[in-house]
Amino acid sequence: IKKSSILEIIDFKEKIEEIGGLEGLKEWLSSKAQVFRRLDEAKKFGVDTPKGVLLVGMPGCGKSLAAKASARLFNVPLLRLDIGRLLGKYVGESEHNMRVALKTAESISPCILWIDEIEKAFAGIDQNGGASDITKRLFGQFLTWLQEKENTVFVVATANDITAFPPEFLRKGRFDEVFFIDFPNEEERERIFEIHLEKRRKMSDDINLKELAEETEGYCGADIEEIVKNAVENKFILETENEEEKKITTNNLLEATKSIDSLSNIL
Ligand code: ATP
Repeated sequence: IKKSSILEIIDFKEKIEEIGGLEGLKEWLSSKAQVFRRLDEAKKFGVDTPKGVLLVGMPGCGKSLAAKASARLFNVPLLRLDIGRLLGKYVGESEHNMRVALKTAESISPCILWIDEIEKAFAGIDQNGGASDITKRLFGQFLTWLQEKENTVFVVATANDITAFPPEFLRKGRFDEVFFIDFPNEEERERIFEIHLEKRRKMSDDINLKELAEETEGYCGADIEEIVKNAVENKFILETENEEEKKITTNNLLEATKSIDSLSNIL
């Protein structure tokens, strides 16, 4: 598989512990990973093979992070399917592309197949099945595959907008579970600050995580990452030689917060 094709192999190094909040999802993925890592044994024991999960929610709150972290947790390759790129000009081309992509994923299994912004591909299919013929055909093809696929392909589908889905898609049995990914609450924001400070080896006892979390209501995980990144960069360009002055403080972070517009401020 080449980079930037319909099916792309994605590099990942993210650990599940690097996700702040989303406790239910992390726990669920960890239990599925235990099954996935011992599939043969699990089958013999009578356990169903995990099929996949749908993650729906606001941008920047950790859906892609969760897709990558699950690949590490499951210890398998991560393939991303770009449904937008499937669409071809010729009759039958899109279906052919979809078939080839899904077959390729099966040939690489066990693996995780990550389908990002899945609603974009199936947008416009309403309750009455209205949409362009090609969208409907691709949707049908994908649903059939989901139901009949080689189970060693675990699907992680991510989407921002659940209202764009045809109801059939959400019916029980398509995915093992649907998770709604919301903005982080105060406690979760504390943890996300801590995670990103630790990643840059800038966490210290002096940093008041509680205050930072209180001041960042409505900010998503990606915003918090940006705040930490900017605060560290601002510190670096000061070019101080004094070790104490090099330390990141709560005030540095609060200052950096002002330069980031949270999504809730923009909306
Ligand atoms: P989009 O719908 O725009 O693709 P997303 O929900 O997939 O958004 P991510 O790409 O996972 O969001 O988030 C972007 C970055 O923000 C992540 O790589 C991570 O560094 C940080 N981030 C987001 N959410 C969290 C979180 N819950 N914990 C820690 N870091 C987070």
